[in-house]
Amino acid sequence: MLIPARMSEAEERRWVGVMLDKLAAQESRSILGDRELTERALRLSEQYFGGRARPGSVRWVTNQNTRWGSCTPSEGSIRLSHRLQGMPEYVVDYVLLHELAHLLVPGHGPRFWQLLEAYPRTERARGYLEGVVAAERLPHLPAAREE
Ligand SMILES: [Zn+2]
Repeated sequence: MLIPARMSEAEERRWVGVMLDKLAAQESRSILGDRELTERALRLSEQYFGGRARPGSVRWVTNQNTRWGSCTPSEGSIRLSHRLQGMPEYVVDYVLLHELAHLLVPGHGPRFWQLLEAYPRTERARGYLEGVVAAERLPHLPAAREE
């Protein structure tokens, strides 16, 4: 049986770096269950809206392909599109906060965006989602070839 040659120190450092990146990526992209999603929404409401938005239920839905999230203020229910699963946490948090804000303010007027200003990654998350939509509209390019 062959024993693999010892990695050089530089190789080892590189490998550890790669593994740590992988772990971090897994952690920030973990898929939450509906209960965890509701708990997360409650925490976000606490943190950014002083707990004023009180969601009754938050759940994933698979029948929402043109919207990232929706809510029914009279019921306090929030639904998130399953298409957000696997996106970075700050993007999911933004969509949660967006729907939470609708429990307080209907429509997208100045009062609505004023609420979202409390979340420092609103612009970045909106840019990310716009990028996803834009990428879907691009003609499919042939996969890059390795030379
Ligand atoms: Zn909205």
